[in-house]
This record gives sequence, C-alpha cells and structure tokens, in this order.
Amino acid sequence: MRTELDIIPLEKISEEVILALKQELKDRNFIVRIYAKMNIPKTALNIYRKQYNAKIILDTLRKLKGNIVAITNLDLYIDKLNFVFSVAEYDGPSLISIYRLDPKFYQEKPNFDLLIDRLVKEVLYCIGKMKGMRDCQNIKCIMHRASSARDLDYKEKEFCKDCKINNAIKGFEL
Ligand SMILES: [Zn+2]
Repeated sequence: MRTELDIIPLEKISEEVILALKQELKDRNFIVRIYAKMNIPKTALNIYRKQYNAKIILDTLRKLKGNIVAITNLDLYIDKLNFVFSVAEYDGPSLISIYRLDPKFYQEKPNFDLLIDRLVKEVLYCIGKMKGMRDCQNIKCIMHRASSARDLDYKEKEFCKDCKINNAIKGFEL
C-alpha cells in the first residue's frame, strides 16, 4: 500500500527544497501533499542557544491529522543534545531541519543535490520511525541513526536485509 505523506513547510524554508523533496518522494511511490507554510510557536526559540526546541514544535504538529513531516531551515535541539537533524514520533509527526544538512553549514561549497540527498535520507528515516521501526546498527541502512553529515552520506536510501524482513511484517515499504 502506498504511504501518504503530509509535508509542512515551516517558516522560511525554501520552496525549491520542498519541491525537490516532493519529487524524490513521489519517485519512491509515496503520495505527497504539501501544506501551506506554517509558523512555529515563538516560545520554541531558545535565545541563549540561538536554537529552536524541537519538542515545542512537535507539540503543535501533534494537533494535525495525517502523516505529518514538517521541514524547517532553523537549527533544532532537544533536551541536552547540542542539535538534532530530526525528531520523529511513533504514530505521530516528525520534524526535520535542513540547517546542518546544508554543505554551506560546514563551509563547503553550495551543493543543492547533496542537500536534497541528505534531506531525503533523513525524511525516510523519520517515516520509518513514524511506522515503528527501530534504529539499525548497520551503518549502510536507512534506519541507522545519523549523528553527522558524514554518517548520512555513508548510508543508503534502502533498508538493510534485517530491516526489510521487519518491514515485510509491518507491511511497509520504502
Ligand atoms: Zn537496517
């Protein structure tokens, strides 16, 4: 069965990024709907850290219906972690930041395709989490939790064999 996704652009995320993501997801057989841009709660900004609290944003997203995947260009953190690429809840929404997926963040030359490649991997990982998949130890597997851009670049946009078996049980495919 094809999975339906509701993409929510947050704040000043570029439309070019959202459209490129939509195309990649459609190519992977997802049904993709793009929502109107949403603002995030002002209380999400931590002025000392100059970052945004992902938990506060998730509280807002949880009120929406559907398979919610929100995309932001703002830098996210959660609890004591310095930053997160994304947060995703089982049977709930997910939130992904492109802030640290962008090669420009690492003082590298602009590379839109690489940015989108990383974003797609992070989104697929989040969809897995929303469907109840666990983190995978296999560093090539899409369900491996990436803690750096390098981790993301290393993994593939596929489930490993073990995860594929798990997915067959859950009736979910990438
Ligand atoms: Zn795996």
